[in-house]
Amino acid sequence: MLKGFTRLLHSTREHLKSLLDSPESASDALSPRIIPRSEHPVSRQQISEAALKVLYRLNGAGFDAYLVGGCIRDALLGKMPKDFDVATNATPEQVRDLFRNSRLIGRRFRIVHVRFGREVIEVTTFRGKPQDEHGDHIAHQSDDGLLLRDNVRGNIEEDALRRDFTVNALYYNIADFTIHDFANGARDIESRTLRLIGDPATRYREDPVRMLRAVRFAAKLDFTIEPATEAPMYDLAPLLLQIPPARLFDEVLKLFMAGRGLITFRLLSHYNLFGMLFPESEEAMADAAWAEELIEQALTNTDKRIADGRPVTPAFFLAAFFWAPVAHRQAALEREGMPAVPALQTAAQEVVSRQLQHISIPKRFGIPMREIWELQARLPMRRGKRAFQTREHPRFRAAYDLLLLREQAGEIPRGLGDWWTAFQKGDEHEQLRLLQKVGSDPASQGDRRRKKRRKPRKANSE
Ligand code: ATP
Ligand code: MG
Repeated sequence: MLKGFTRLLHSTREHLKSLLDSPESASDALSPRIIPRSEHPVSRQQISEAALKVLYRLNGAGFDAYLVGGCIRDALLGKMPKDFDVATNATPEQVRDLFRNSRLIGRRFRIVHVRFGREVIEVTTFRGKPQDEHGDHIAHQSDDGLLLRDNVRGNIEEDALRRDFTVNALYYNIADFTIHDFANGARDIESRTLRLIGDPATRYREDPVRMLRAVRFAAKLDFTIEPATEAPMYDLAPLLLQIPPARLFDEVLKLFMAGRGLITFRLLSHYNLFGMLFPESEEAMADAAWAEELIEQALTNTDKRIADGRPVTPAFFLAAFFWAPVAHRQAALEREGMPAVPALQTAAQEVVSRQLQHISIPKRFGIPMREIWELQARLPMRRGKRAFQTREHPRFRAAYDLLLLREQAGEIPRGLGDWWTAFQKGDEHEQLRLLQKVGSDPASQGDRRRKKRRKPRKANSE
């Protein structure tokens, strides 16, 4: 399979090279370069049946229908597209009338989702300029230049120029299998360059999330962000504070769940973007070197799991991201005399509620994240039945992984992690021996509280 892709990539390169060598390759954004089927490698075999159905039905009803965005970009790079976006001149209502299995969604953009089992094809009507030439009637922009609505109808040329990066503005026409390139995207795919269409600062002001998208694509595709596209990011990073927390959370998932989390983290930090998403973590990183190391280790772990095809949960990397601020606060509360477990719960509550002003964390991730933290306070307490109870906790494995990372990052001395490694591997006999060792070890912190608080309190998070 991989061989096929490599061949595909190679043939793409050759096709694109021959195109770029041709004399009329000078950029004229409004007249697209039309790449005939014989000169590009995107084949219908790379397109899902559902997407083809949508394209053919739109086309059969007399509308223009194109695949656009990430699917064409990825197909040209020899990657298997993961989802398909369709652009058309049909209105959302016309699209809806053509497909029983569809519904209108979205306020910022007017999109129709056409569903086939688990697959959803996103169909968008061509969008036009948010403002007309005279700057009147449709000014859906805030004073900072933020686009409040972006659903003015337009033609395909205008639609192309509303898109973010040149490599995301390539249109595959189902009528003749040509690719229409309005912004020299083919050239930028060839040189692996990420370039915003239009004036970068203006485009970031219109939608600051484009800065995160730049980082995400640079990391995922191994592209270079060209100088003019990267220059305004450092200063405009604070514009992200205007973005609703729910939208930022969606972006955070895409940033860290794509298998290139470590590089993504470094790029975000480089462009001052990380602190706009995770201010609590950023502050903690300035206080303790291990905080950054812990995040790097967690992302290395997550990337590796994704590469191995093992399951990953955002709860784990989020638990690692916020562990340093939680641990700092917990330590402060313990110094004031609060016992470890309630101190941890209070610290978690405070850190999370501050963080939620920036990115929202749905409960399905927030609850396990807190459980992973709570287990950090329970892992040292191993006497009696405790170790066995902790071992049975559904979040034990993730908590143990975090413990190992904390030791690796240098937050706490090594030892407890090894104990738990041995305890999991050991037979009954070995487990008893390990428990006896805890009993005779005066340094086994937490155990002294056993008498006061025999039953572990139930996690009452969220
Ligand atoms: P992937 O799906 O692989 O993450 P993608 O490029 O398809 O990448 P989507 O978020 O699915 O990203 O968006 C589809 C297309 O819509 C993009 O390729 C781009 O053309 C356009 N687009 C998405 N978000 C924006 C934005 N914030 N500003 C301008 N255009 C955008
Ligand atoms: Mg997409």
